[in-house]
Amino acid sequence: MSVHNVICAICSERYRMTDQILAGSCGHVFHEECLERWRVESRTCPICRSDDTVYLQLYLDFEEPPPSQNQSQGQSGSADSGIESVESGTEYSGIMREYENLLYETGVYREEIEYLNERIETLMLRNSQLKAKLEMSSDSD
Ligand SMILES: [Zn+2]
Ligand SMILES: [Zn+2]
Repeated sequence: MSVHNVICAICSERYRMTDQILAGSCGHVFHEECLERWRVESRTCPICRSDDTVYLQLYLDFEEPPPSQNQSQGQSGSADSGIESVESGTEYSGIMREYENLLYETGVYREEIEYLNERIETLMLRNSQLKAKLEMSSDSD
């Protein structure tokens, strides 16, 4: 049988491919609806109590076979409310790539900020030295 034993800590249910799942920046993962219910009571993570957790949508790729789709089938009219995006594999890797890119960019910007901060300090120091000189020369004038 299947080995998907990853459960949501809030409802203790196993995740299924169709579930809306959120991953927190603290590393904990929950059903979107469970978390929403929880967040009515408390803004902290149900497991680690982290209170500045940022949640991202998570697309898990289970090995369950996708629902068979006949291409010859026409629009089924009644059920087109966005449930057909089960092929989340490409979407997931796209998001993963974007995530890594942003992580990299963040690092670059952090370094840049550090560099600029140093630069500002140097310039401010130089500025105050010049100002002192100015004041001195205007005094002796
Ligand atoms: Zn749940
Ligand atoms: Zn947590």
